[in-house]
Parts: sequence; structure tokens; C-alpha cells
Amino acid sequence: MGGAAVTEEFHPGFRNSVASYTVSLLQPKVIRELRLAQHGLRIVERPYSNFLPLDDGRYLRVGGGQEATQREFAKFSARDAERLPAYWAMLERVTDVLRELVLECPPNVGGGLLDLVRAAQAGRRVKRLDMEARRDLLALFTQSAAEFLDGWFESEPVRAAFGFDSVVGSFASPYHPGTAYVLLHHCFGEVNGRKGVWGHAIGGMGAVSGAIAAEARARGVEIEVDAPVAQVIVKDGKAAGVVLGDGREIAGRSVIGNLNPKLLYLKMVAREHLPPEFSARMERWKCASASFRMNLALDALPRFNCLPEAGPHHASGIILAPALDYMDRAYLDAREHGIARAPIVEMVIPSTLDESLAPRGKHVASLFCQHFAPDANWVTRKDEAIERIFGVIESHAPGFRHSVIAHSALSPADLEREFSLVGGDIFHGQLSLDQLWSARPMLGYADYRSPVEGLYLCGAGAHPGGGVTGAPGRNCAREVARDFGRRWRSR
Ligand SMILES: Cc1cc2nc3c(=O)[nH]c(=O)nc-3n(C[C@H](O)[C@H](O)[C@H](O)COP(=O)(O)OP(=O)(O)OC[C@H]3O[C@@H](n4cnc5c(N)ncnc54)[C@H](O)[C@@H]3O)c2cc1C
Repeated sequence: MGGAAVTEEFHPGFRNSVASYTVSLLQPKVIRELRLAQHGLRIVERPYSNFLPLDDGRYLRVGGGQEATQREFAKFSARDAERLPAYWAMLERVTDVLRELVLECPPNVGGGLLDLVRAAQAGRRVKRLDMEARRDLLALFTQSAAEFLDGWFESEPVRAAFGFDSVVGSFASPYHPGTAYVLLHHCFGEVNGRKGVWGHAIGGMGAVSGAIAAEARARGVEIEVDAPVAQVIVKDGKAAGVVLGDGREIAGRSVIGNLNPKLLYLKMVAREHLPPEFSARMERWKCASASFRMNLALDALPRFNCLPEAGPHHASGIILAPALDYMDRAYLDAREHGIARAPIVEMVIPSTLDESLAPRGKHVASLFCQHFAPDANWVTRKDEAIERIFGVIESHAPGFRHSVIAHSALSPADLEREFSLVGGDIFHGQLSLDQLWSARPMLGYADYRSPVEGLYLCGAGAHPGGGVTGAPGRNCAREVARDFGRRWRSR
């Protein structure tokens, strides 16, 4: 239970989030309405957002307040330090619009009057932005992260710190058009009211799923796990239930799928129930991340060349990728050889904030690494990938390998097998302009409905896309309630 938001004990005494590992996009409204805090969910902030050790012995810390970050930027460029407040103000203006759109059903192209109203509402929101902010919005939706950041900052470490988000879960170079949006997608969240910040769920990401399950049970929902759905039953053109892998049938007035749309529509619904052009387009739904995920049990904190002693930097998102060109090379390598020779590594050590994860004095680390081609041979190349990742960490923190007590590793193929993430795609489909908003998962079906009456899509393959947000589920529930003739009440 919990999909990609789960915690497990991966070595005796060491627990950690298995796949997703950090929280920001989870919508405050969802937290409130589902009473997640009452069910024990506690999200804590990190002292710094990011820490970038550099090859020349210097480092960059981002976060801990605007002035502190400006001081850090000034180590590399006085101009970048000066520009930071304007950059953050711009992002806030743009993400404020995005935040409002996240919890709304996108206008459905070809829909009715309601969709015209939705389009007008969205238009009004954008109209509130001044012309400069509209230009920024357009740039963020169309440009590459590198092009966008070049317009703001000149120093490589600063561009790398912000550009890292543009390649997370996206098999792309930061020089690819469209990656600026992936960067933006990581900015519309908040932690305990602090916008744009990422935090840690005490107990790991399983605590998010556990709290949602507790509220569901409190409202009378029965949850069955390890019960794969094999097929959606369609009777007289309407969804009427599901057949489980063990042959059991469960009847229902509607079916709501929380899996990659490619799997729902191409594997679980018989072709005769879908228009051929719908199936043909769904075949072309783009899915590919190049992410490799590891958990480490550590005997000690890594001692970074640039800042060896234990400190707040160990509790931040540690990015081992000093420049956008480095990220580009990782992409090109993975395209050509399947595995980046020098991968992009983010290390988060949640046990610095959460004592429940490791024995006293020991630590757990999440490693989220790119780029590893989903179609590489993962039967034979997993150890090679681990070696490359460890090599990068070792180059910044000598002796690190000796501190590893145990590890677990998920290649893109493992992510596909264990979590049904097609192409290892952590977002259930690329976050490209042709697969966003009214086009997610397809023009004409952005309102969580499908060509089969009573069949809905409510996961990351629907608007607003990937991340532990709670948003597609909430938006879909509102549409289902509408079809059931119920009034939607927001708590
Ligand atoms: C390695 C990794 C790291 C990530 N890091 C972060 C992060 O730090 N923060 C963040 O916000 N997001 C992160 N994400 C993205 C985020 O986890 C996903 O976008 C999010 O979990 C999507 O939620 P979902 O409910 O739509 O689907 P999922 O979480 O993918 O859940 C879908 C569930 O459906 C199940 N399923 C599929 N087919 C069937 C079937 N036939 N029958 C029954 N069940 C089925 C799957 O097994 C799975 O359990 C990460 C994802 C991955 C993989």
C-alpha cells in the first residue's frame, strides 16, 4: 500500500523511504481535508535546501534565508547574489498561479459550457500577472532550464543548484527545451506554510500513505493490498467493476484507476471499448525517467572534502553535480552507453532529522541518481551503476565506501517491476508541454474521465502530474462526485 510513497526496513534496524523521499508538493488543502496531521503526519524542514560540494574544495549552500543564500552566492558572483531576490520573487509570482491551477480540473478541450468557464477562470488567473511575469511564465513552459537560468545567473554552481530539479525524473539534458518546466514543477509546493521548501515526513514517505489510509478507513473505506487488478469490467459501455489477478470480480458503480494511463487503458480495458484513435495516441504516451534509487545504511556521516565535520549541511539535499554541463554529459553518456560515467547524485540523510530511521549514532541515506537509461540491460549492469554512484560520492567524501553497512538499489527496470512505473517514469508520463494540463493524459480527457463511462484516471498521469501531491486524486474525486450528482464539500 502506498505506491511510490512507502517506508521499509531495508536492513535490520535501518528504515527509509523506498522510492519518493522528500515532501513539498503535498497540497496543504489535502493535508487539512484528510486530517493527515491528526493521523500523525509530521513534516519537518531542512536547515538548508541544498548543499553542493564542488571539485575545487569550495561549496555552495542554498537556503536558510535569503540573506544567508545571498552571502553564499556572493562567494561565486556578486551579480548572482544581487539577482537572487528578484529570481525568487519571480518564481513566487508564477508559482502562485500554478498553485491555484493545481487543484482545479483543467478545461477539457471539446467539452461543454463548464469547460469554457474553466478556461476563462484560468485565463483570468494568468491575466492577473503583469506582462513581465507572463513572459517569465511563457519562458518557463517552453525553454530549456539552461536557457532560462542563463537569463538570471552567471556562476556555474548557482545554475547547477537550481538546474538540478530540471533533470529529476526526466531523461533529459538541462539544455533540452521543456526542462525549465520540470524545474518549475518542483517549486509549487510548500512545507508548513513556507513556499518552495522541501521537507521530510517523520517516519519516511510511508507516513504520508499511512495517514491517508487511516482517514480512508475512518470514512468506511475497505483497503485490500497485494490484490493486482487484471481487468476493468465494461458492461453496456460503462465501467462496472474489476477482475483481480486471482479471478475474483468486484462490482462497482465506477472504477477509478491510480496507475500509469498507458497501463490502465492499454492493459486493463479491452480494445473494443476504446476508440482506436484514443488507443493509438495512448501507445505514444511518453514515459521515461533515467532514475536509479538507492538506500544506504551508514556507520557514519560522509566527511566532505570541503566541509568534513558534521553540520546542518548533512541535513540538506546534497547535490553532487557541480554544473549544468556535468548534467548534460551524464545525459549524453546514458544515451550512448546506458549509464552515466559520472552520474548526477542527490543524497539526503533523513536520519539527521528523524531518529526513528536508524539506530543511535548510525544513519540512513537516500540516493536519487540520474542518468541511467531505462532500456539499458539492468540484469547485468546494476553493479556497474552502483559503482559509478559510489565513485562520485567517494570523490567528494573520501572514505565514504567504508561507512556503508548495507545498501538496497532500484534500477529503472526495478522501478517498473515493483511499482508499475512504465519506463521507470516516476511521474507516470513525461512532464512535457504536450502532456500537461488540458493535454494530460490527452486532449479531450483532461477532466479525469475516459472514453468509457464511469472509468476515471486519478494518478500522476492526470493533471497536475507527478509528485506526492494528493492533487489528481482530489480533483478526480470532485468530478466523480459531480457525476454521482453529489455536492462537493471542501472541509
Ligand atoms: C524513485 C522515485 C523518487 C521519487 N521522489 C519523489 C520525491 O522525493 N517527492 C515527490 O513528491 N515525488 C517523488 N517521486 C514521484 C512520486 O512518488 C510519484 O509521482 C507519486 O507517487 C505518484 O503517485 P500516484 O498515487 O499517482 O501513483 P504511484 O505512487 O505510482 O502508485 C500507484 C500504485 O498502483 C499500483 N498498481 C499499478 N498497477 C496496478 C494494478 N494492475 N493493480 C493494482 N495496483 C496497481 C502500483 O503498484 C502502485 O502501488 C518519486 C518517484 C520515484 C519512483
